[in-house]
Amino acid sequence: MGSTPFVEAYQELSQRFMRLVNDLSALRGLSTLSFQQADETSLLRGAMQVLMENHDLERCSIFLLEDEALVCASGLDWQDLLESTVARERAGRKPMVFRLGQGIIGMAAETGRLQHCRDCPTESRFLPPDKQFTAGNIGSLICVPVCLNGRVLGVVNASHPHTRFFHEGHERLLQVFAGFLAQILANWRYYHRMEEEIRNRTRELEQALDEAEELKRRYHQLSIVDELTGLHNRRFFFAEAASALALSTRHGHAFSLLMVDLDHFKLINDSHGHDMGDRMLQIAAALLKAQIRDGDILARFGGEEFVLALANTDEDGARQMATRILDSLRALQLNAGEQSLRITASIGIATLDAEMAAQTDRLEHLLRQADQALYYGKACGRDQSQCYTSLHRSS
Ligand code: GH3
Ligand code: MG
Ligand code: MG
Repeated sequence: MGSTPFVEAYQELSQRFMRLVNDLSALRGLSTLSFQQADETSLLRGAMQVLMENHDLERCSIFLLEDEALVCASGLDWQDLLESTVARERAGRKPMVFRLGQGIIGMAAETGRLQHCRDCPTESRFLPPDKQFTAGNIGSLICVPVCLNGRVLGVVNASHPHTRFFHEGHERLLQVFAGFLAQILANWRYYHRMEEEIRNRTRELEQALDEAEELKRRYHQLSIVDELTGLHNRRFFFAEAASALALSTRHGHAFSLLMVDLDHFKLINDSHGHDMGDRMLQIAAALLKAQIRDGDILARFGGEEFVLALANTDEDGARQMATRILDSLRALQLNAGEQSLRITASIGIATLDAEMAAQTDRLEHLLRQADQALYYGKACGRDQSQCYTSLHRSS
């Protein structure tokens, strides 16, 4: 017994309803695609999967427009739901490409309008791109341009082995699907461009900060280091010696200053030239540096004058240090042409005492005492060290 018109109408209606539900599911599926996808191909593969899962298509694909050419970005086959692009890449084959206007896919992109090929084997519009996709396994094909604001981004294709398989419902769905996909693709690109932009800006900012830090370090270095000798300069000395002295005072430790001034240095400049004078200063600086221990503060105080601050060092210890310096300077021999140059120094020593420890300007005070002791040494014939205390005893 044949079905009644009522039953047929009912069946027709329920089929339509199911198609509608499928269509809506496909669109809903699109909205759940994750923007976190690392690459565009994965996003497009997800979109193709959504389309296949909700419709009785045999195969679908998306081609993206790149430099006037449509390049297959993703394609799915119902039989195995395999990513054919990936499979192609694995097999070392290039993705399928159509020029704008070439074949039905190229035509969809060029015209910006849906192309529906109902009988591929007989239609001249259909251009089998290669042996794998001959008209034999494509009976009908719909190609829909993926457009955003009138700009074609690519083409979505759905095919089936049977001819005249697709109907108007398919056309409509694919058009809506392509519209959604265009929006998603544009958003994805925008999102990742922004991410890339932020990454680049962050990198640039980090680089600028590193450079600024390096500049700061260099300027700081320049401001505390004497260029000629590489020793610390006067500025550094005042800052460092003041805190070392404060520490020694607090703990009741000994503290001594040595003021070293090269003897008759002007003569060296006058008779051997300024460059030789510079060299001599560098050698004397290296020699002083070799004598100090960790924690001692050494600086070029100015001209041919150096200063040493020695924590935990009493007058005896300072005198021993001065003797070592004088001995090693005396042992120096420098060739200047035919001549052999010698250098000596005078050293003034001042040591912190209990009375001075209580004063706020104790560093300046110690420096004045060391200076006076130094000039006493000069007056006594140079090449010697003098302590401020002995200067008092003798006067
Ligand atoms: P004294 O034994 O009394 O200390 O005699 P002096 O000649 O060493 O003393 P004076 O202060 O008269 O001269 C210091 C000289 O040091 C004068 C200056 O030209 C020289 N001098 C200072 N700074 C530099 C420098 O950076 N390079 C060179 N080559 N010479 C310098
Ligand atoms: Mg001098
Ligand atoms: Mg001097």
